[in-house]
Amino acid sequence: MPVPLAHRSAYELLAATMLSAQCTDAVVNRVTPALFIAYPTPAALAAARVDELETIIHPTGFFRSKARALVGMASALEQRYGGEVPGTMDELITLPGVGRKTASVVLGQWFGEPAIAVDTHVLRLSKRLGLTDANDPVAVEADLKELWPRPMWADTGLRLILHGRDTCPARNPRCNACSLYNACISRGTF
Ligand code: SF4
Repeated sequence: MPVPLAHRSAYELLAATMLSAQCTDAVVNRVTPALFIAYPTPAALAAARVDELETIIHPTGFFRSKARALVGMASALEQRYGGEVPGTMDELITLPGVGRKTASVVLGQWFGEPAIAVDTHVLRLSKRLGLTDANDPVAVEADLKELWPRPMWADTGLRLILHGRDTCPARNPRCNACSLYNACISRGTF
């Protein structure tokens, strides 16, 4: 299952995933064409004028902190990784603004590495389905990895994100339209 964020490189996927925090993929996809025309490489983004960058990414929300994170990420890529996005969790999470969730998306969707991205949607859905008792994303990630074989981790993680976001949101989950209804220990409790 391809990630719904439009991208042509690991750099573009990383930047788009960072912009997707608290924002829909549709809005990110409307913003990123202009972003990557203005800043086609990490070097260009590292040298961005912050006010111009903020204007471009404004529709994605939290544009000031996202602009700082994007420039910090790009600068770190330039200074430490020769302008390339590294392909390991340990390296990715050293980049400014990049946590395990963002790193997992890039690892799974670009590098084909087994990873399950645990964001707020996966956290909520996993607990509602009874797949974990944990609250900490790292512990939830470990519990989920016990349930599926490694080759399925990235795809499963993405499916959980989309299901949590589209069918099982925090408020008013759509249990009557849910494909996981029969397997869910929380069905009909809302
Ligand atoms: S049945 Fe309801 S609570 Fe359970 S996963 Fe589906 S939408 Fe969420």
